[in-house]
Amino acid sequence: MKVYKGKSVFGGIAIGKIQVYGRGEKQVKRVKVEDTKGEVLRYREATKEAIEQLKALYEKALQEVGKEGAAIFEIHQIMLEDGDYQESIENIIHIQEVNAEYAVAQTGDNFAQMFASMEDDYMRGRAADVKDISERLLSVLQGGESGLLGGEEEKMSVREPVIIVADDLAPSETVQLDKDMVLSFVTAHGSLNSHTAILARTIGIPALVGTGLSLDEAIDGKMGIVDGTDGTFYVEPDEETLSRLEKARQEELLKKELLQTLKGKENVTLDGQNILLYANIGNIKDLAAVLQNDAGGIGLFRSEFIYLERDDFPTEEEQFKIYRTVAETMGKKRVVIRTLDIGADKQCGYFNMEKEENPAMGCRAIRICLTRPEIFKTQLRALFRASVFGKIAIMYPMITSVWEVRKIKEIVEEIKQELQAQGIAYGEPEQGIMIETPAAAIISDQLAKEVDFFSIGTNDLTQYLLAVDRQNTALDDFCDTHHPAILRMIETVVENAHKVGIWAGICGELGADLEFTRDFLAMGVDELSVSPGRILPIRKIVLETDVSAYKKDWRKSWK
Ligand code: PEP
Ligand code: MG
Repeated sequence: MKVYKGKSVFGGIAIGKIQVYGRGEKQVKRVKVEDTKGEVLRYREATKEAIEQLKALYEKALQEVGKEGAAIFEIHQIMLEDGDYQESIENIIHIQEVNAEYAVAQTGDNFAQMFASMEDDYMRGRAADVKDISERLLSVLQGGESGLLGGEEEKMSVREPVIIVADDLAPSETVQLDKDMVLSFVTAHGSLNSHTAILARTIGIPALVGTGLSLDEAIDGKMGIVDGTDGTFYVEPDEETLSRLEKARQEELLKKELLQTLKGKENVTLDGQNILLYANIGNIKDLAAVLQNDAGGIGLFRSEFIYLERDDFPTEEEQFKIYRTVAETMGKKRVVIRTLDIGADKQCGYFNMEKEENPAMGCRAIRICLTRPEIFKTQLRALFRASVFGKIAIMYPMITSVWEVRKIKEIVEEIKQELQAQGIAYGEPEQGIMIETPAAAIISDQLAKEVDFFSIGTNDLTQYLLAVDRQNTALDDFCDTHHPAILRMIETVVENAHKVGIWAGICGELGADLEFTRDFLAMGVDELSVSPGRILPIRKIVLETDVSAYKKDWRKSWK
């Protein structure tokens, strides 16, 4: 048995097979190139090399499994030299002026999709082959291992629920994992406030970051246990550990079931104070968890994940369909959709952003929207149109100044007029802002007069207030999420909102911190938006709290 210690992102216990993520896999970035002819040559050389590999594989397979079994490696060679396939790759390189890797990945995806949608069974089966040959080419282009066994073992194909172990996971990678098949995440690096950690909380699965384990250790396929209660990861657990943790897992399940008895209850304290408990989501697939956990609405839909999941800008129509589905699914319940918060740790290649020294303080979120209004307008049109189908509220991230809000309003007016002129129906959603920069918190009295609501983003507010990069694990000791400066700021923001009669919530991770639920009630916070799995535990505290009694003594811990 091997034991690793990490930081727990989400409690709970997971027991299952380990799957190492990233073995032989490389990220494909879209890179602009000037020398497109050179890129095409690189691609042609890679094809030659891939064909050599396939010839060797064919010979090996011929010896081991005979002619029939080896035939696939001949087919792959033919596919690599297919005229349409080659033409598509070379066209992408020339027309889009991009690197060969991107062109190969893009063509591989397009062709695989095309095959997958065909009627004929045999042709549908070719989708996997075209992916396979594209991965082989990528591997050669990126200077990876040859994949002597035909690439089969290198792919991340999850067919049974597994514990994913990775060096680190980018948010874009995490969103693409099949969540039904993931029991838990364990990463060697990564910080508690990273978006991958947030995603693990959203799915509600045990997860550890910063375990420091080396992926060279042969743990793939072995049995593992993730104990999210104390941040331990066991590889090949001994009998005693296995039965102890299996028992603990059963007890946890029981506790979860008990919490289910709180479903359907109102979030009202012993002395009659109400609070809204909403859910944070990053994806339409999270809706099931929202409903299962009895959320009163969605307080933060991180719409940037729609962008991160794609290779190009999502169209107005694609976005409209997603927002409409969420709005319709939630019926009369409020759905707060945040406009795209791309930038910082959520980089999206096709935005072609300039490289920045300090992306967390760079061109992100609303700053992109205000400098590239064509991107913003597409999203706004989709949101305003979808508002007809439910109770959508729009939320703008990373606000620092009043002028930004006024500029947003001008752009909103423009798109409304456009829609009107085109005879396209649109609604009148509430429009609010995130308070996640110290500047916004300090001038929240002025901002409150401009908007319909505030939602406090404690993740970024903490990083900017304490000058601690939320991605930097080395600073975890300095990243005091309970710092009095943060709590005082929340109190001020809520007061300023209430002075002009608008509501104020918290959608950062601190909102889900059970240690502070009573403090937030005492401050008069109107809404907490948290990972779906946190709603019922918070409801339990709300139901047991007497706010007026608590207030007699409450600020001591943080004032
Ligand atoms: C926040 O900053 O608190 C927040 C909710 O937004 P994100 O974590 O997506 O930056
Ligand atoms: Mg934020």
